[in-house]
Amino acid sequence: MSVRPILRWPDPRLAQVCAPLGDAPAEALVAYLFDTMYAAPGRGLAAPQIGVLARVFVMDCGWKEGTKTPRACIDPEIVWTSDEVAVTGEGCLSIPGVTAEVTRPAAITLRYRTLTGETVEERLTGFEAICAQHEFDHLNGIVTFDRLTPKARAEAEAAYAP
Ligand SMILES: [Zn+2]
Repeated sequence: MSVRPILRWPDPRLAQVCAPLGDAPAEALVAYLFDTMYAAPGRGLAAPQIGVLARVFVMDCGWKEGTKTPRACIDPEIVWTSDEVAVTGEGCLSIPGVTAEVTRPAAITLRYRTLTGETVEERLTGFEAICAQHEFDHLNGIVTFDRLTPKARAEAEAAYAP
């Protein structure tokens, strides 16, 4: 197990736009991300949350319910979003104890490179679509607080005790 400390908001590294991973090796980073995510325990984790400013995230939305669906997404892009939106209470391992009601497209198409170098496109719906967008936001230095109205943000920040 290679569990790394998870940065907590407002660590400035969580507000950085991450650089593409490109041809750099991904195996060790992805292993750290999965080990840290499962240990947290969480359903998604982005590289900047462990202090690595690269465009990589992992997610597994079903493992807590007994269905492991691990994905390691390298240099991901959101290439389509639905007009339909969903409002979801989102937690974040970097903002422990806070659930923020975030409005996002209900479905997306995510294009990313896998650990084996294959480029795949997947249509994601339900919680997987929300989770992928949440993790993708981290790669652009965006956290749930940034998706709230000023009033909701002030309330959420007031409830946050790091
Ligand atoms: Zn998060």
